Amino acid sequence: MRKCIATVSVSGTLPEKLSAIAAAGFDGIELFENDLLACPLPPEEIRERVRDLGLLIDLYQPFRDFEAVPDERLAANLRRAEHKFQLMERLGADLLLVCSNVSPRAIGDDDLAAEHLRQLAVRAAEHGIRVAYEALAWGRHVSEYLHAWRIVRTADHPNLGVCLDSFHILSRGSDPIGIEAIPGQKIFFVQLSDAPPLAMDVLQWSRHYRCFPGQGSFDLAGLTIHALNAGYTGPLSLEVFNDVFRQADAARTAVDGMRSLIALEEALDGRTALPPPPEGFAFAELTMADLRPVGELLRALGFTHAGTHHSKPVELWAQGGARILLNAIGDEAELSAIGLQVADPASSVKRAEALLSPVLPRERDPEDARLDAVAAPDGAQMFFCGTEEPPEWLAEFSPFSPAGSAPGVITHIDHVALTQPLHYFDEAELFYRTVLCLRPHERLDMPDPYGLVRSRAMSSPGGAVRMVLNVANVGALDVPWQHVALATGDIMAVARRLREGLGGAGDIVLPIPGNYYDDLAARYDIGPALGQLRELDILYDRDEHGEFLHLYTVTIGRVFFEIVQRIGGYDGYGAANAPVRLAAQHAQHAGAA
Ligand code: MG
Ligand code: MG
Repeated sequence: MRKCIATVSVSGTLPEKLSAIAAAGFDGIELFENDLLACPLPPEEIRERVRDLGLLIDLYQPFRDFEAVPDERLAANLRRAEHKFQLMERLGADLLLVCSNVSPRAIGDDDLAAEHLRQLAVRAAEHGIRVAYEALAWGRHVSEYLHAWRIVRTADHPNLGVCLDSFHILSRGSDPIGIEAIPGQKIFFVQLSDAPPLAMDVLQWSRHYRCFPGQGSFDLAGLTIHALNAGYTGPLSLEVFNDVFRQADAARTAVDGMRSLIALEEALDGRTALPPPPEGFAFAELTMADLRPVGELLRALGFTHAGTHHSKPVELWAQGGARILLNAIGDEAELSAIGLQVADPASSVKRAEALLSPVLPRERDPEDARLDAVAAPDGAQMFFCGTEEPPEWLAEFSPFSPAGSAPGVITHIDHVALTQPLHYFDEAELFYRTVLCLRPHERLDMPDPYGLVRSRAMSSPGGAVRMVLNVANVGALDVPWQHVALATGDIMAVARRLREGLGGAGDIVLPIPGNYYDDLAARYDIGPALGQLRELDILYDRDEHGEFLHLYTVTIGRVFFEIVQRIGGYDGYGAANAPVRLAAQHAQHAGAA
């Protein structure tokens, strides 16, 4: 299907928007009047620019407050329309969007609305233009898509049809099944946007919080299937009003939008076999100028320096199935790459490329294993590794021997937490969901002493791969933290080892305030184990499936480690404890500064 996007959905001047939209591979645009009015180019030049970029203007919009008006207004409205038709001819656009009237002067009379729209269609036809009538969710008298369709049917003119906008339909809770009752050739245009579930005024919700398909909670594949079943053959167009997209980089937003449409098409086409989700973490790679502090921390956690790369300044640290690479480049310690075990790396790479996540160039020696990575929106590299054990790439490390990573108390990487720039949170979610085939969990806002941290976990079914995406809306924090969480079956043993280990626990384990444990005693009947948790700075959480014990190390550069023990079927990440952890980290950070 043709893929379009409204110019309002991306940031920039009109020429900047057009370039970004064309580069992302769209077929056409909805030209927003405001973008035209603010553009110094005459319509003929815009038309040429659009054509040179391989685009079409599929829709011109909006035309407001036209129908069901008192007689004296109709003449003025038709005159206004005549100007738009002439403009559209200069632009080479042949479809005009008319939104249902929101004016207090509009009359609640469907026959009158139909008569006025028919007159508009008659005049539009003289210019070879068609009119698509859209029910705004907050229209004065017409706010339901089937109501708009009844008026269009009454008007009965070939140049008049409806525009279906997923937001206006689904935000009102209307059942989209009714779309199938509209003849396909009378559906002139379909606009898609998603939205997070928010209980707020629908106009504010629409103007500020729309997002691309798959980034909110609407069933857009379901709605689109109804339009296709009705016989709709026109474009799928993204019309997204979003405060963040208006500021974000246009090229990225356009790619994000295109990725959402490709994923939507996959969902429409049940035959598309999605690659299976990743089966585990192959490694986490940290970059930093000086490897020693993190190496010492890993040693204290029971890791062994198991090998050194034959040609790059990279150390392999291993314990059980957890592998951490320390790469001596860059400055402060940061989490730069994640290796994912996938059944078929080549098909994962192919899929990533189809979803506009190009494979990153990688310098490698001829004898090195072929490992391809794509860039996540936060800049982290995601490597697609096989599931063979020991993995092929381990041969790049000498003197590596599998015995060097004898099973320890830590068994594997439980999850990694990455910090996203605010502008790219939705994009990141879509990336992890579509490119890495992870499933999103609930969104959380966690209070921090200096702001709020927005968080969302994504995981593979069964939880072998878990990632937590955070946005730090934290004024006082200039270095967004990331972490690697390591799983153990015996967190007490790890904690005691840390306590007895290098320099005492005070240097390694994040201290947790006593008030936390007093409160814990009130919330849960933990019994004598509470004393041990308090002594060892271990945090505790519980859900309906099981229990969760976790502790944090101090932060080095941008990175810290978490040790987690899942008991029973606990499926969370200890989010209830995040505010205490964040406050403790700020205290540590301030103490270190
Ligand atoms: Mg719309
Ligand atoms: Mg965590």
